[in-house]
Amino acid sequence: MNTILHPILEVHHLNKSYKDFALQDVSFSLPEGCITGFIGANGAGKTTTLHTLLGLTGADSGEIRFFGMDMREQAEEIKNRIGVVLDSNCFYEGLTLNQMKNIIAPAYSRWCEEDYQRYLRTFSLNPKQTIKTLSKGMRVKYALTLALSHKAEFLIMDEPTSGLDPLIRSQVLGILADYMENGGRGVFFSTHITSDLDKIADTLILIDDGKILFQEEKDVLLDSYRIVKGDVCWLTADTRPLFINVSETAFGFTALTRQAARVQAMMPEAVMERPHIEDIMLGVIGENVPAKERR
Ligand code: ATP
Repeated sequence: MNTILHPILEVHHLNKSYKDFALQDVSFSLPEGCITGFIGANGAGKTTTLHTLLGLTGADSGEIRFFGMDMREQAEEIKNRIGVVLDSNCFYEGLTLNQMKNIIAPAYSRWCEEDYQRYLRTFSLNPKQTIKTLSKGMRVKYALTLALSHKAEFLIMDEPTSGLDPLIRSQVLGILADYMENGGRGVFFSTHITSDLDKIADTLILIDDGKILFQEEKDVLLDSYRIVKGDVCWLTADTRPLFINVSETAFGFTALTRQAARVQAMMPEAVMERPHIEDIMLGVIGENVPAKERR
C-alpha cells in the first residue's frame, strides 16, 4: 500500500527584497516524515527565508502554507504546532531557565512539562541557572529544549548545531532522529556542517544568492554526481563540457560530473569517487555563477 505523504510546508513564489539582496521566487514543498537540510554559502538567504516563513520578516509576495493552512490567516494555530530554534531566540537575560519557561509555556496549548524536564536532564541544563550565564552551546540546548517541549509537529531551526561540541552535536542529531520516529512530523534546518547532513538529512535544498538551485533527496543527489580524477592531457574540447568545477594542478585534474557513464567511456582510466555534499554544493554554485564573474 502506498502511503500518501502530506506536505507539512509549502512555499510558493516567495519574494522579499532588501536594498542589496532579494529572495527571488522561492518555491519548495516539504513532505511529512522528512528531515530537510537547508544549505548555501554565507549571505545566500537561509536566515531571511526562515524568518520570512515564520512571519518575523514580512514577505513582499508569495504564499506560505504550514499543515495546509495559510500563514497569513492562521499564524497563531501554526505557531502552536511548530518548534523554532533561531540564532536570534530572544530570552530575558536576567531570568533563570525555569522563569523564562514559565513565560513561554502558556503560549502553547500542548506544553508538556514532563518533556521539558526530560530534555533539561538530557542536556544537563540547570533550571535554576540564569540565562545570561549560559554558554553559546547551552543556549542552543535550551532553545531546543523549549522547541521540543510542546508536542511540535514541525521543527524549524537556523544552524542548530553550530557552536556545539562534537559530542553534543551527535546527541542533538540523535534527538532529532528520535523526534522523527513519531510519524507525521518534519524538520527543516539550515547548516554549514555538511557532515550533519550526511548523518540525518533525507532531503536537501540549496539556495544561492536568494534563488533555490535544487531540492533533491540526498541519496539521489549523491548518486547523480561523481568526483573524477585524471591526467590533465585527457581534458579536451570534447571532454571538458562533461565537467563542473575543474581544478587542475601539475599532478592532474579533479572535477565534478553529472555524466559518469560518458566520462567512463571517454576516460577509461579515470578514477571515480562518490562526492560529499560539500563537493556538489560548491560545484552547483560554481556552475550557477555567470561565466563573466568566474575567475
Ligand atoms: P549565513 O550563512 O552567513 O548565516 P544566510 O544564508 O543566512 O547567511 P541571510 O542572513 O539570509 O544569509 O542574509 C542574506 C542577505 O540579506 C545578506 O546579504 C544580508 O546582508 C541581507 N540582509 C539580511 N537581513 C537584512 C536586513 N534586515 N536589511 C538589509 N539586508 C539584510
